[in-house]
Amino acid sequence: MKVLVINSGSSSIKYQLFDMTTEEVIAKGLVERIGIANSRLNHYPQNREKVVIEQDIPDHEVGLKLVLDALVHPTHGVIKDLKEISAVGHRIVHGGEKFASSVLITDEVIKAVEECIPLAPLHNPPNLLGIKAMQKLLPSVPQVGVFDTAFHQTMPPHAYIYGIPYEYYERYRVRRYGFHGTSHYYVANRAAEILSKSIEELRIVTCHLGNGSSIAAVDKGRSIDTSLGFGTVAGVIMGTRCGDLDPAIVLFLMEKDDLSTAKMQEILYKKSGFLGVSGISNDLRDVEEAAKRGNRRADLALDIFAYGIKKYIGAYAAAMGGLDVVVFTAGIGENSNVVRERVCRGLEFLGIKLDLEKNKVRGKEAIISADDSKVKVMVIPTNEELVIARDTKRIVEREGQ
Ligand code: ADP
Repeated sequence: MKVLVINSGSSSIKYQLFDMTTEEVIAKGLVERIGIANSRLNHYPQNREKVVIEQDIPDHEVGLKLVLDALVHPTHGVIKDLKEISAVGHRIVHGGEKFASSVLITDEVIKAVEECIPLAPLHNPPNLLGIKAMQKLLPSVPQVGVFDTAFHQTMPPHAYIYGIPYEYYERYRVRRYGFHGTSHYYVANRAAEILSKSIEELRIVTCHLGNGSSIAAVDKGRSIDTSLGFGTVAGVIMGTRCGDLDPAIVLFLMEKDDLSTAKMQEILYKKSGFLGVSGISNDLRDVEEAAKRGNRRADLALDIFAYGIKKYIGAYAAAMGGLDVVVFTAGIGENSNVVRERVCRGLEFLGIKLDLEKNKVRGKEAIISADDSKVKVMVIPTNEELVIARDTKRIVEREGQ
């Protein structure tokens, strides 16, 4: 069975075609700059050279048509006929409270995802564009939606209800949702597999550290808390997002500088985090470089980030009544030994003992704690696409499609 996985953003679409008999990726790629000048498709057929197709791509449908054409192309294609694609799996950012697991996409599902647009105005609309375009291009192929929020739907109310009047939850569903769920799910389960343990016996803190970051407490395989909340700005500081903040600051700044909601939003989402504190860059590599050269604010940004993660690890160990595993994943978690070391330093009292030599690893699965560390510290590259492909296969087979 071949499953096409689509991650449709506002101006880009990422895709991977899986052969599910081996779970191999037989082609993957990226449509870039949709609706902007110089749009192109970067297509990577398995074991062959990258192909770049430069063409005007005014919308998502044209972009996805280009992807399908590339998949069946006589020279750089990987399948003979589009009929070989048995199902399409879509990443959907926000499923609200309606979706605690992946689903076959129907008209009702599309309606429910549309209803979640106010909760994720930047993400759900382009996700829907991808779904609707695929429905047009491959009308008889079943499509499955996999939600970033679904894994966190197991959180108990005391973790997801905020301390504001309860009516806002009732009226507008204001609550903690959490994101990166597919990634937290994947790395937690992969950690159990690598350790040859049942996930049922493990208390895991998963640290997804990328441009957007979140930490999750995964207790016996279930998410019981996570650092991102109602929006995608809470928790630890990120590339340009502020992380946890005293709400009084927002009110104070809005009044002091007479800021509009849009301006305040721009400050919190686009001007804060690594960029805002360091004044250097939103990219951690640049911040690390500057800190190494002695830039004080870059070093401070790294410290704030690591300190925030450390506090979440401690908090979640308390929430789970103990800790067995800490996993680092995503761009920063997989690559930055500097961040991992700063996070773990001082957590020896919790049973965390990092092996500095093993911690030098980049981008591959590894246990980086010392052999006698009570808590296992691991690096596990995330693989959200594989989870989407597996869910898609399972659901399509279950529905007898
Ligand atoms: P996204 O959230 O967009 O998927 P990624 O998971 O790709 O982002 O993470 C991007 C972040 O990872 C950037 O801050 C980047 O600097 C960081 N990163 C990538 N490679 C390295 C590296 N070798 N060392 C340190 N940080 C890295």
